[in-house]
Amino acid sequence: MRMPLIAGNWKMNTTLSEAIELVSEMRPGLDRIDNVDKVICPPFISLAVVKELIKGSSIKLGAQNIYFEEKGAYTGEISPVMLADLCEFVIIGHSERRQYFNETGDIINKKILAALRVRLKPILCIGERLEENEAGRTEEIVTEQLRASLAGIDYPGGLIIAYEPVWAIGTGKAATGEQANETIGLIRRNTAKLYDERLAQALRILYGGSVTAANANQFINQPEIDGALVGGASLKVTEFLSIVRQTSEIKGHLSKGV
Ligand code: PEP
Repeated sequence: MRMPLIAGNWKMNTTLSEAIELVSEMRPGLDRIDNVDKVICPPFISLAVVKELIKGSSIKLGAQNIYFEEKGAYTGEISPVMLADLCEFVIIGHSERRQYFNETGDIINKKILAALRVRLKPILCIGERLEENEAGRTEEIVTEQLRASLAGIDYPGGLIIAYEPVWAIGTGKAATGEQANETIGLIRRNTAKLYDERLAQALRILYGGSVTAANANQFINQPEIDGALVGGASLKVTEFLSIVRQTSEIKGHLSKGV
């Protein structure tokens, strides 16, 4: 049975004091919700402080990016070893990194390998752009992104995938639950081909792209969708709590094997 998971990607938002305020406001509410993995991904500079603030709670911590080298002369980068001490998850291959920082399939593959080496759980983002969607190339694009990201990886234990159609991220224009379910089903079948059915059935695949408290149930109700990667709405306490609560109500029983 797959434990549902909601991850909040704070992106480049919140100063240190704002992050402290946000996590302090979220903690009591999140802690009251069971049977969902609740992950927050603040900016790097806040990770250490937020880690202290969530100690003893059920909230888990993730980073938004990673570099693939272990250490050395890579000014400004953050290594897997540094993150392994701080958090459990790391977002890799987000479309904003692909778009603004020229991250290619090869770089993303190296980052996944680097994360797995130190037992960080990668949240690998894949998804097609608007023109690719309109040209009917969604299947081809996500299949190729999956293959490139996992090339040469024997068995990606701990991997989580987020299907994030680029045209739905930060635009307010979400996919429909049915569209997302179909593509996520395809990703699961492709993972079974790359590895095996056991891994594919255990793999958590999230939807991401303009998820809000108002539309979350459309996605969470779908059988292939195991949760959401939430951007904008993860910065609003009541919105994020509502998304997590709805996930627990809709899917929480699955995590108990009921
Ligand atoms: C994201 O950052 O991965 C994302 C899906 O953003 P938003 O929810 O704001 O569309």
